[in-house]
Amino acid sequence: AAMREDRIKKTKTVCTYCGVGCSFDVWTKDRKILKVEPQVEAPANGISTCVKGKFGWDYVNSEERLTKPLIREGDSFREAEWEEALELITRKFTETKKEYGPDALAFISSSKCTNEESYLMQKLARGVIGTNNVDNCSRYCQTPATLGLFRTVGYGGDSGSITDIEMAELVIIIGSNTSESHPVLATRVKRSHKLKGQKLIVADLRKNEMADRSDIFIQPSPGSDIVWLSAVTKYIVDQGWADESFLNNRVNGLDDYIKSLEPFTLEYAEEATGIKKDVLIKIAEDISNSNTVSVLWAMGVTQHLGGSDTSTAISNLLLITGNYGKPGAGSYPLRGHNNVQGASDFGSMPDRFPGYEKVTDDEVRSKYEKNWGVTIPKEPGLNNHEMISAVHEGNLKVMYLKGEDMGLVDSNINYVHEAFEKLDFFVVQDIFLSKTAEFADVVLPAAPSLEKEGTFTNTERRVQRLYQALEPLGDSKPDWEIIMEVANRLNAGWSYSHPSEIMAEAASLAPLYSGVSYERLEGYKSLQWPVAKDGTDSPLLFIDKFPFPDGKARLFPVKWTKPLEFDEEYDIHVNNGRLLEHFHEGNMTYKSKGITSKIPNVFLEVSPELASERGLEDGTLVRLTSPFGNVKVECLITDRVRGKEVYLPMNDTGEGAINYLTSSHADKDTDTPAYKEVSAKMEILRAK
Ligand code: SF4
Repeated sequence: AAMREDRIKKTKTVCTYCGVGCSFDVWTKDRKILKVEPQVEAPANGISTCVKGKFGWDYVNSEERLTKPLIREGDSFREAEWEEALELITRKFTETKKEYGPDALAFISSSKCTNEESYLMQKLARGVIGTNNVDNCSRYCQTPATLGLFRTVGYGGDSGSITDIEMAELVIIIGSNTSESHPVLATRVKRSHKLKGQKLIVADLRKNEMADRSDIFIQPSPGSDIVWLSAVTKYIVDQGWADESFLNNRVNGLDDYIKSLEPFTLEYAEEATGIKKDVLIKIAEDISNSNTVSVLWAMGVTQHLGGSDTSTAISNLLLITGNYGKPGAGSYPLRGHNNVQGASDFGSMPDRFPGYEKVTDDEVRSKYEKNWGVTIPKEPGLNNHEMISAVHEGNLKVMYLKGEDMGLVDSNINYVHEAFEKLDFFVVQDIFLSKTAEFADVVLPAAPSLEKEGTFTNTERRVQRLYQALEPLGDSKPDWEIIMEVANRLNAGWSYSHPSEIMAEAASLAPLYSGVSYERLEGYKSLQWPVAKDGTDSPLLFIDKFPFPDGKARLFPVKWTKPLEFDEEYDIHVNNGRLLEHFHEGNMTYKSKGITSKIPNVFLEVSPELASERGLEDGTLVRLTSPFGNVKVECLITDRVRGKEVYLPMNDTGEGAINYLTSSHADKDTDTPAYKEVSAKMEILRAK
């Protein structure tokens, strides 16, 4: 019995799902997961978790886990030893680089991998291959928010902490299905709203749970958020309600900005968004009457042709009303994946080194060149959207992608699949044989978070450690070890024996992390960047200054980019987002029985009006067809959506996968796909 007890182990980890960054103890016995036990000292969640954090772990023992490297043979794969797989990879990398140059190779990091793994992936690209072609999936979600914040306040992350959101007098949620996408964070808002008199305004196409609870709920026409935001800002300025002293002391560019607001009258906004003037005035009054305003937003804002500009408009509004640098206020672009913040923070971006230092900056580049003993190209590399085009054009020959199901989550996936087929050589590293891996030449078996050490950074810029609970299954290995083996076969001479050494190197190079160390992150301790050398971190940004040379923020004028227009026959607007129980394309959650038993598949939400017009019932099977592809899915009639706006959860790996419908159109400033600008026609395939 004693021996059996010895096999029971308690390990601190960080959730592998969303960007809230809940941490907890996981109890295991051999490979069995006994329970997940949140702790009071967990900084982001305390004793709370959601259904995914609590029950979404048995995918680690799924029979579908990859346990051996796979090498393509014709239409199928055969199992191989590491030696053979790595030898093939490094030979192909070397040959391609020799024949076509380093920019014929590209690297995709994962927002589910650790910070240290993101650091190594960009180091492999830049420091070993010699290309800046490296990106990660934040391009698919919050890169527009990062740009909007870079433009205005200088750091591309949440400006405060979850506790600030909790204490705000007014919370505004725009295009975020918070209670399903960031459940534990949503609970904090629900509690403050119910018990502490916090006001809540929600803007969304769909009447989600937060909308149900809100004081004001608006449903602007698709893609028009920038209009009502700018009209409200203009009204505040016109009424003399702007925060004069904040603007005088801490902000540049006021005159040009005010001029740019001229078109955004209340009348214009009412016409463009469908929101009544008196509602817009009420929103402006509520903002002006609140001492602290926090704005939360997500993909409903960013995944549009003008996603960066709308994010910028949010930040402009916060600057005009002085809602930065004080507890309870600020901008909160909610991060999707558990480590989507960290994947960018640690340099897996085509134009930024770790800590967001620019590739084009000679001084910064030479710092890395000296440290790594290499020459790094001056020009930014390709982002993941450009990579797909470059493959089609014949300029990109080899891709190495880890932990990312690009073949399902990128937009217009038929086009992406064709690109994968055109590659000379494609390496995919994952824990399962994903849709993307099906196109690979070599598939490498990686280890999920419970089987390795490292750090994740949550939506509030909080770096937290995860400890190893289980041994890697079969022959799978932690991503950082695999990347190091690839690099060393290319003569890199890396000798990291533990992720802490990788973090130490990153901290020595990137000023944003200079005080980050594993010792300072022991157990439930955490640090929010920027972290000074002495270990002082930054739960709230911009208290005294903004990170620009003169310390002042910048108002940034923006214009409305109207959403895509489709032919009349595509008369259904297809909105998309998450379900609480599943995570993204569902690679992990569909392999967790605790979750699939609750929600085995997705459904299309249809309004009662559309249902009666077309004769749809719960369970009717329909086909939606856009100019780019089609999906088959069953209907669910609900008043959460209205008119011809339908909602298709993105959590499907098969015939209902939303990205068969989406186009290659993208945000004009960041190339983030305009996933939310989809129209389709509908036909009934089978009555209920
Ligand atoms: Fe995990 Fe997010 Fe749920 Fe927390 S809220 S348990 S981080 S999925």
